[in-house]
This record gives sequence, C-alpha cells and structure tokens, in this order.
Amino acid sequence: MHQNHSELTSSSTDPIDDTAILFSKPFHAPREMANLQEVVRGDHAHGDGDFTRSATRRLTEITGAPAALLTTSGSHALELASRLLDLGPGDEVILPSFTFPSAANAIALTGATCVFVDVDMRHGNIDPQQVAEAITPRTRAISVVSYGGVAVDFEAITAIAEEHGLAIIEDNAHGLGGSYRGQALGTFGVVGVQSFHDTKNVHCGEGGAILINDVTLLDRAEIMREKGTNRARFLRGQIDKYTWVDIGSSYLLSEYNAAVLDSQLESFTGIQQKRHAIWDSYATRLPAWADGENVRLMDVPADRQHPAHLFFLQTPDHDYQVALLAHLRSLGVFATFHYIPLDSAPAGLRHGRRLRELTESQSFSDRLVRLPLWADMTQGQIDRVIEGVSSFHR
Ligand SMILES: *Cc1c(COP(=O)(O)O)cnc(C)c1O
Repeated sequence: MHQNHSELTSSSTDPIDDTAILFSKPFHAPREMANLQEVVRGDHAHGDGDFTRSATRRLTEITGAPAALLTTSGSHALELASRLLDLGPGDEVILPSFTFPSAANAIALTGATCVFVDVDMRHGNIDPQQVAEAITPRTRAISVVSYGGVAVDFEAITAIAEEHGLAIIEDNAHGLGGSYRGQALGTFGVVGVQSFHDTKNVHCGEGGAILINDVTLLDRAEIMREKGTNRARFLRGQIDKYTWVDIGSSYLLSEYNAAVLDSQLESFTGIQQKRHAIWDSYATRLPAWADGENVRLMDVPADRQHPAHLFFLQTPDHDYQVALLAHLRSLGVFATFHYIPLDSAPAGLRHGRRLRELTESQSFSDRLVRLPLWADMTQGQIDRVIEGVSSFHR
C-alpha cells in the first residue's frame, strides 16, 4: 500500500496547511517554459528530436556512459533491460527484497523468477554474501540499486558476476551524480537505469533513461525502444526502408518531456549544490540528538560520493519509527518510511522466492525514517525539520 511516491507527502486524514513541509517537491528549472514553448510552436513533438539529443548528451556527460537512450520511465528502462538480456521462464534474477517494485516487475513480466536476498543494515544495499549463496545454474543476472545513491559494494558484486558469468542490471534511479571509487554510478551494470519521476533529483514529470555500458547491446536497445523496428538506422540513412526486426515496444520520451528534462539537466550542478547543502545540514546538526537516542544517521563510506537524493535515519525499533513519524507530522513535517520488503508482498510470493527469511530487509524497512529533502527548501524549513527531529525523545 505505501510506497515512495507522493501519496506519502499527504493523506486524506491530514489536511496540509500552507506551512507544512512536504516530503518532496518537484524542482522547476529556469529554461523549462522557454524549451516547452519551442516544442509547442515547432513541428516535432514525438520522440528523438533536438531536446532528446541535447538531454541525452548531457546525461552521457554527467555519467560518462558510452551511450544513453531516453525512455518513458525508469520502470520501462528496467523492462527494456530484461528484454535486452532475453530473460524468460526458467531464468532467475537475484535482487534485494528492499527495493522499488519496478525492479521486480521487470523480471516477472518476462516470466523469469525473482530471487530475493537481504540488504546490509548499514546502507540498505544488497548483501554480496547472500548474492553468492543464492546463485544456481539458472541464475542469469543480479539486479542492484544503490539505495539513496550510496553505492552498492560494486567490488564484491562485480567479482561475483564475473566469476559466474552473470549480467549486472544497475537500477540507478537514486544515484545520478554519485560515484564509487571515482567511477560514476550508472556505469557498473551492463546497463544503468535512470528515473526522471518528479520525486527524483532531476525530473520531467515522468521519464527515464537506459545507460548502455555494454555497447554491443546498443543496436538492439534502439530497435526494442522503437517498437521492434530498425527505424533509428533508417533515420540515420543507414538503410533505405525500415521494418519489424525484433520484439519491442514504444519507449521513446516525447519532446515535451525531453524539453523539461533538458532544462533540468542544464541546471544539474545548481540543483545538486542546493540538495547537498540541505543534506549536510542534517548530517552536521543531528548527531548529538541521534547519539542520545540510539538513532543511526545515514553514513557514507569514504570511497563513495552520494548525490544527496535522500537523507535517512534508522531508529532503534519499529515503535520508535512510528512515534517519530507521528511527532513530525504533528509539527507539519512530512517525513516518511520507504519500501515494504518485496519477498513477502503478495506479488513477491507469486513471482519470486527468497533465499531464506529476510530479517535484515524487514528490520531496515521497519526502522527507516526519511526527512524532507528538495532543492528549494528554505533555511527556515530546514531548521524546522532539524528542530522537530531533535525535540523528539523516547
Ligand atoms: C523511482 C524509482 C524507479 C522507477 O522509476 P519510474 O520512472 O517512476 O518508473 C525504479 N527504481 C527505483 C529505485 C526508484 O526509486
């Protein structure tokens, strides 16, 4: 029932007054309107126009990925990833139980089986030890997400993938701008997936992208994104007619969305500076309270750069989480929890199996509190969140 999107910023029983601090608020970039007007007045509103080209270039510059294709959503980019790997019935993909349902849908839609494993309690990322234990002769891929943009232990995951000949699908919906040992997040999998949903650092309402790190997949990705046709090659003049050559769907982002996305990516540095300043305020002003309460604040190992996508705390137990969220809500501060473990969810039981009882994922989920974090928060709002949190005592 409860997931991470905007339904958590309000509920029918809590009227939101003007002073409430929402959990998330979409950023609006300076050039959005001008870009949109250009599309409205022009002759090209479908996908793969000038704004798509420009936004795609900005995305490959930020990530260093060899190629990228914009898609209608992050979820669709994950589906495209499954199709590119030819997943199907009998195949298994290992993924964390604590993640967004789209990662599991993308596997289940092909008829493949989700094999859920636990996350490590420090960062909420997939536990490499359990990945190694979950491998069977049917395993094809490992699907990972760097939770909150704090990198997965890619050294361990990459070693396991190489040893067993498995593909890594990197859900990088939280991680744009983050890195692991100097390498940009999104570039560790054969493909990396971005989301531009309006809860993400950079958005266009709904949208996504697939970063193609294994360039041997690029031709087929272009075809699958264009209804299974070789239209992209036709438009480049490489063939003289286009036809149906593979399975596919329509995953192109319209130029309206790409126009907004392009302006957001143009403002990326500024957006990130604002978000980091808020993140740093939480990280520097909450430790005294957290120590006294036995609460753990999000921490980032020295070999990882996070992109200030979210700021979380871990409470000592579930009752504390519920009480802290209620306290903050009474002050008009809309903090929230996050994913409900997928392995025990109704669809998780139908489309997957778990390595064993996943106690860490459950515990991580039961004790997680995320604080409001969006680029245009005022100093007064940041102070109110910090004072609200620090005024809570068991
Ligand atoms: C937002 C998100 C997605 C899905 O992206 P959409 O663009 O909303 O389809 C997938 N995975 C994670 C981890 C996300 O946060």
